[in-house]
Amino acid sequence: MPPKKRRIVALTGAGISAESGLGTFRDKGGLWDEHDINEVATPEAWNKNPKLVLEFYDKRRELCVKAKPNEAHFALAKLEKHFDVHVITQNIDDLHERAGSKNILHLHGEILKARSVNDPEKLYHIGGKRIKLGDLAPDGHQMRPHVVWFGEAVPKMYEAEDIVREADIFIVIGTSLNVYPAANLIYASAANIPKYIVDLNELTNVKYKNLTHLKGKASERLPELVDTLIKDLNNTK
Ligand code: NAD
Repeated sequence: MPPKKRRIVALTGAGISAESGLGTFRDKGGLWDEHDINEVATPEAWNKNPKLVLEFYDKRRELCVKAKPNEAHFALAKLEKHFDVHVITQNIDDLHERAGSKNILHLHGEILKARSVNDPEKLYHIGGKRIKLGDLAPDGHQMRPHVVWFGEAVPKMYEAEDIVREADIFIVIGTSLNVYPAANLIYASAANIPKYIVDLNELTNVKYKNLTHLKGKASERLPELVDTLIKDLNNTK
């Protein structure tokens, strides 16, 4: 039997897809500069103006379909040859899938999927198609995007914590760690394992044992880190 591969868990956020042309939420010029979060990404927004919410996500879906994975997504996929890699993403795009990563957990849903407002479990792959008011699921209820809105529960959180607990190395990429409960995941990792944060900004609010901040573009810093991890692994063989 081949030896068990070491586990790397990567928690990714909007920043990893920024260089693919998908805007982040909080950076200057990001999505919240153009949209009020309360008007488009909450259950209250849906109750007040579902058409506006659907149009907001139609636009996100359209941009997602046009976008292409970048060097950071590909670097994570490359790690899989050498490590047991688990990607936990806050992103609703499918760029990790298209880069070739296999174990991907979408904490906040997937924009290319829809579901009935009455059934969170059954998902429908809609690809780049829009959702209009009056588009009904087979159960007779309105379709909505399969995304977790602010104020909604994050059903995959427990599964994510279980994955993180078993990590030998933990990497955080392109997330401001402002959205909870996802931001707490780093604290589910074992205290003694190496942890890295790859981000344009130094996240000075995160202080943790064995934590290395790699400041810069994900498309540059992550491939460098991946090469170092593979080299270190080969040196220990
Ligand atoms: P965020 O907007 O709060 O933070 C983005 C982080 O990425 C910031 O810390 C920023 O410094 C960093 N960043 C920006 N460009 C970068 C680059 N080129 N390289 C490295 N780092 C870079 O995003 P978040 O923490 O993911 O939380 C916001 C929520 O928005 C998440 O729940 C996510 O679901 C959602 N979101 C998803 C997408 C997507 O699917 N692509 C896009 C926007 C927002």
